[in-house]
Amino acid sequence: MDIPEELREDEVLIKVKYASICGTDLHIYQWNEWAQNRIKTPQIGGHEFSGEVIKVGKNVKLVEVGDFVSAETHIPCTRCKMCRTGNMHICLNMEILGVDRDGIFAEYARVPEVVLWKNDPSLPQHMASVQEPLGNAVYTVTSGDVSGKSVLITGAGPIGVMAVQVAKALGAGPIIVSEVKDFRLDLAKKNGADYLVNPAVEDAYSKIMDITQHEGVDAVLEMSGNESAFNLGMKSVIPGGHISILGLFDKNVSLDINAGVFKNITMYGITGRKMFETWYKLSSLLNTKKIDLDKIITDVIPFENWQEGFDKMEEGKCGKVVLEI
Ligand code: NAD
Repeated sequence: MDIPEELREDEVLIKVKYASICGTDLHIYQWNEWAQNRIKTPQIGGHEFSGEVIKVGKNVKLVEVGDFVSAETHIPCTRCKMCRTGNMHICLNMEILGVDRDGIFAEYARVPEVVLWKNDPSLPQHMASVQEPLGNAVYTVTSGDVSGKSVLITGAGPIGVMAVQVAKALGAGPIIVSEVKDFRLDLAKKNGADYLVNPAVEDAYSKIMDITQHEGVDAVLEMSGNESAFNLGMKSVIPGGHISILGLFDKNVSLDINAGVFKNITMYGITGRKMFETWYKLSSLLNTKKIDLDKIITDVIPFENWQEGFDKMEEGKCGKVVLEI
């Protein structure tokens, strides 16, 4: 690929080293209804990466040529009410890297300074690529108190499994994981889950109630985007507990709202990562080795074999898949 000539004054040119595959990339690859309505072709996809700065625009101050960086993928306008009140992650004019503008599945990528994150040079580069989804897990786990509390994580995809490690590092327990795929139940176990439940083959609610002395879990982290998993969480949460919802649902879900009202629960919707509070938290967890991403990254594949990575994601026989460029 030619090195892009144009660079805006607030942009940085990056030589991409590692790029990981997100569920959103899979949706674009499958060209589902959401992708057809949202993506304007031709466009380069991908948004999770690590790489080296090779050129900086004239107003850039945060990084220099040679720096090892990753980036937040939600690009805020910095001028709207949300941005000006410390809520850049829910900017009213948000653009997403690799969705609304060219992304990073390429040798070189242009990224605005406002979203850049300077990596600790000692952080392995393939791990640095998956900090963005790790941030989803960190933001969800830290949205309510989990220390010394029982936690149910519904869905053990890459982010659910990251949440297991994060919750454990922050002192949660017992950690119960509900998942329907054997590979991922096994992955959750390897990443520190205390109990596994498979709602496809057993009475998950009874098992969760037995584990929690028939009280229910203090916190539910919804990470599946599946209606029955969400309802299992609603049923299993203890009165006064909380449910944090990261999962994205492809249709409206029916919800027993009165049950939630009478139990006095708190419900959090989670989008992206707090900028940049979540990044500092995840960086601290990573750099102090309280979490080990090598237990979650199951595949590092040469970029030319990208199809293999997308196939694995479709099958669900993987944790995080990283492409080496
Ligand atoms: P993933 O699709 O890889 O994982 C979801 C897991 O849920 C799968 O392993 C699947 O087998 C499991 N599952 C399906 N039905 C289930 C059920 N009934 N009970 C228990 N588990 C069930 O997704 P991921 O990449 O780990 O992301 C987790 C979720 O978060 C997805 O819904 C994704 O779309 C969403 N997401 C949201 C944000 C955000 O900003 N809110 C960002 C990234 C991802």
